[in-house]
Amino acid sequence: MSRLLDELDTVSRRRLLTLAGAGAAGLFAPPLLGRGALAQPVFADYPFQLGVAAGDPQPDGFVIWTRLAPEPLALGHGMPSQPVRVEWEVASDQNFATVVRKGEAVARPELGHSVHVELAGLQPARPYWYRFMAGKERSLSGRAATTPLAGADVQRVRFGVAGCQHYEQGLFTAYRKLAEEELDFIFCYGDYIYEGRGSRLNNSARGPSANPRQYLDGEVYSLDDYRRRYAQTKMDPDLQAAHAAAAWFTIWDDHEIDNNWVSDLDQDGTPPAIFKLRQQSAMQAFYENTPLRPSALPSGPSLQLYRRAAFGRLLELNFLDTRQHRSDQACGDRWNTVCPDIERARTEVLGARQERWLLDGLSASQARWKALAQQIMVMDLDRNPGPEYTANLDSWAGYRAPRTRLLSHIRDRRISDVVVLTGDEHQNFAGELHLDGRNPGPRPIATEFVATSISSAGDGQDQRPDMVRIQAANPQLKFNNSQRGYLLCDVDRERWRSEFKVLDRVSVPDGALSTRIKLAVAAGDPRIVPA
Ligand code: FE
Ligand code: CA
Repeated sequence: MSRLLDELDTVSRRRLLTLAGAGAAGLFAPPLLGRGALAQPVFADYPFQLGVAAGDPQPDGFVIWTRLAPEPLALGHGMPSQPVRVEWEVASDQNFATVVRKGEAVARPELGHSVHVELAGLQPARPYWYRFMAGKERSLSGRAATTPLAGADVQRVRFGVAGCQHYEQGLFTAYRKLAEEELDFIFCYGDYIYEGRGSRLNNSARGPSANPRQYLDGEVYSLDDYRRRYAQTKMDPDLQAAHAAAAWFTIWDDHEIDNNWVSDLDQDGTPPAIFKLRQQSAMQAFYENTPLRPSALPSGPSLQLYRRAAFGRLLELNFLDTRQHRSDQACGDRWNTVCPDIERARTEVLGARQERWLLDGLSASQARWKALAQQIMVMDLDRNPGPEYTANLDSWAGYRAPRTRLLSHIRDRRISDVVVLTGDEHQNFAGELHLDGRNPGPRPIATEFVATSISSAGDGQDQRPDMVRIQAANPQLKFNNSQRGYLLCDVDRERWRSEFKVLDRVSVPDGALSTRIKLAVAAGDPRIVPA
């Protein structure tokens, strides 16, 4: 429960108590946090240039987020070096005619003047609108919906899956399109920022091309570096529109910290004690810029990211962290190769605790659909068909033992209707999961949909020439495409439908969106079929 100074007027206080019952009294925390915070700051420029966001909805509320930054790209983001009071309002209508909750939060300099307000006492399964005020300024409003009550007989859930948004490599048109969909929520699988700079595209379909945009800085290391990278990314109006349209469940992948990091190891062999300092800065900036629950506030180079959410008895989502608790990549993490190391038994993707939590949760789930919403591909595709099997060593395929533990648990406990949602690859894939993709059994164990990228890798093409050969050699892979876009999932009790939305271009504004393919999984049968 957040300890916020609430100054509700009598009407909304009475209304809140009606909504939430006597338990709501605990929301009115001691009036300590607001003291000493600047109440009427005068800003050099508009302080809400990074937009607003909501996240981690539950049946009785969600987190609302903003970050005061009148000069988003300047050191100190144009804010005084002191705490500043921010007011917030939540309404049951778009015009804020009926404000159901309001209060104050403190934007602290230690946290980049971000605020994470945990709302409670709201009604389940309905939309709300929220906004912030600071000094004489007011933010635009955002919309977010609470989730249905646990055990509710939910008929349908519709959500978007997006991530891998390299600011330099393409425009965020896909986010503008995603904002126009009416969604229950958006799952972001990470790579919200990229830590490097200046990787030139070599767009094989149309020849080499310059990046449409550039990051301001070189590779980011310090807290101020990461903050500025988030600021530059979050100033994008299409991204802001997607945040304002629905609540997000956000996880990180590698580039929020460093390419292909796992545990306390980076890819360059930096001493772990030194890499941890960078991780600490990156994790703090991630928290500051993401609508996470305050319980995710990092402590040193550690942040509790994996968590669960449910939509009644229809859908349970397990949001995973396949980076922080993972063993080092096998075989030196060379690209698309393989060595006996991938079979080593004492290896982890989730770490022992998270793996236990996931497997126990899958066994206990009463939901029709059990989703693993995570980063790296579970399909063990042969990436270079020939005499020897080759794997993406940064994916589950490079970790045979934990991959086998996960899939054999699902098979042996007869857990049906498990769908894996994945990012990271910068391509669209749909495929069926077997214990060993090289020798698939008669019946798959689960299904995987891999969403492409919002912008990473640039315009792309329908299918890369090398992927034609890879798809032919991997019969469990049913669909592949290399354009930019997002995935729409439309789930009811009988079917899970996945619609792959692609853009013709992200190198120029106003790319045209189309549905590349609609695929489905029927309840009780993990095979991929046309929708
Ligand atoms: Fe990526
Ligand atoms: Ca990645």
